[in-house]
Amino acid sequence: MATTTNQTFKNFIGGEWVDAASGDTFESTSPATGETIGVFPRSGAEDVDRAVAVAKEAFAEWRLVPAPKRGEILFRLARLLEQEKAGLTDLMTREMGKVKAEAGGDVQEAIDITYYMAGEGRRLFGHTTPSELRDKWNMSVRQPIGVVGAITPWNFPVAIPSWKLIPALVCGNTVVLKPATDTPALAERFVELLAESGIPNGVVNIVHGGGGTVGDRMVRHPDVRVITLTGSRETGVEVLKAAAETLTHVHLELGGKNAIVVLDDAKVELAVDGILWSAFGTSGQRCTAASRVIVQRGVYDELQSQLVARVEKLRLGPGWEDDTDIGPVINRTALEKIHSYTEIGKDEGAKLLTGGEVAGEGDLGKGFFYRPTVFADVDPQMRIAQEEIFGPTTALIPVADLDEAIRVSNGIKYGLSSSIFTQDVNAAFRAMRDLEAGITYVNAGTIGAEVHLPFGGTKDTGNGHREAGQAALDVFTEWKSIYVDYSGRLQRAQIDTEQ
Ligand code: NAD
Repeated sequence: MATTTNQTFKNFIGGEWVDAASGDTFESTSPATGETIGVFPRSGAEDVDRAVAVAKEAFAEWRLVPAPKRGEILFRLARLLEQEKAGLTDLMTREMGKVKAEAGGDVQEAIDITYYMAGEGRRLFGHTTPSELRDKWNMSVRQPIGVVGAITPWNFPVAIPSWKLIPALVCGNTVVLKPATDTPALAERFVELLAESGIPNGVVNIVHGGGGTVGDRMVRHPDVRVITLTGSRETGVEVLKAAAETLTHVHLELGGKNAIVVLDDAKVELAVDGILWSAFGTSGQRCTAASRVIVQRGVYDELQSQLVARVEKLRLGPGWEDDTDIGPVINRTALEKIHSYTEIGKDEGAKLLTGGEVAGEGDLGKGFFYRPTVFADVDPQMRIAQEEIFGPTTALIPVADLDEAIRVSNGIKYGLSSSIFTQDVNAAFRAMRDLEAGITYVNAGTIGAEVHLPFGGTKDTGNGHREAGQAALDVFTEWKSIYVDYSGRLQRAQIDTEQ
């Protein structure tokens, strides 16, 4: 049973549940059926300003709470998330649409990162290093930065808020979260659990509403010191420009156009398993989705026929039904965008092997379902091979050899995930070195990140930061170098060199 369906929800500011100052609201609806999930405050600048003010005030005390104690609160959250996993999973199948197994995985990712980052409370390592001068102590420590504005998308509605909030909090920052308007109930439930775990008032706040209003105000607010955004490349560019005036730190996790390379010596059945999971899991709505498959010619026909046969067996349906393989896409705009790329692919001369249409029969007509779509004989420069579609569409691109495969894989503006299927260790190592991406998988699809490794992309996928793993700590802390001179005399670095 969903825990919070069909209710009226509020913002959480300074430990209180409050309406938007304007009293305006918006609805969250299920992409599978159109049913209302809940009614949420449509907030504005005034609400953001209040949340930032309380977060700033709370920072003064939260940064002084010993990091292991901050970690203990987060351990409690991890246990609460475990207890609530089934309810959150069910709610996710309804509000976001992904199938049950994947929704459970999304919640599990939040549990994993919460345990991992809670443990940072007893690490948060800095460095000590010798001084060039006698009787002098040198060290560097991580310090929290202040109020963090977290802006999240709808496709990982619990996992992504957790990747941002948990490291921010263990490091001693306070947070204002603005979740996507397509999945507010899940973000709200996550914040409820944070409150239940004992986070002090004002340390975590949630303000619901649109990107252009709530998000933009957060980015421009002079008291927000870090913006962490996961979203599209276009939004990332806008946010970076808007943050320039206040020199706010900006951490961006943006789009992808990820490819799986399949060489002649690959195990074809295994590659097809990887393609199915990576191209059609979450209905292709993952930043790491495999929307390109680059196939060496010797195995191209065999792979095509195996793939199409498997794709045509996939069952579309609501995420909460046990035998559903593919859930809906998030909303009508997404459905229309995905279909427009089918038309673009056909116009460009790609061969449509299967899918390519809205699935509207029976109950599917109540939601936003799109048939899993495979194009063949795709030229690497076609728009369907260059632009992020963010739906269940993939493009097969034939190539002659490994060199061409790597060139084609790299021939896009994004650099998030990449993959190669081969039995040749030399080819695998070349791919590991030469694929321009933040992540490379060998003999697995483009999906499968684990929370203790850095996650993020090169080129237009981001701006050089990483989420998860130890790397996330660099987003949410600043280094302070500390020199302690216990010689009792003035010692001048670089000048008093006689020791
Ligand atoms: P989006 O860019 O439309 O929205 C993301 C968030 O930004 C939302 O909360 C939105 O309200 C907010 N926003 C929009 N305009 C804003 C503005 N001007 N100022 C401040 N905030 C603003 O993205 P989406 O459709 O929710 O998510 C899909 C995109 O996210 C895809 O491009 C996908 O690849 C990307 N994504 C990337 C990763 C990653 O880790 N690299 C993970 C998941 C999704």
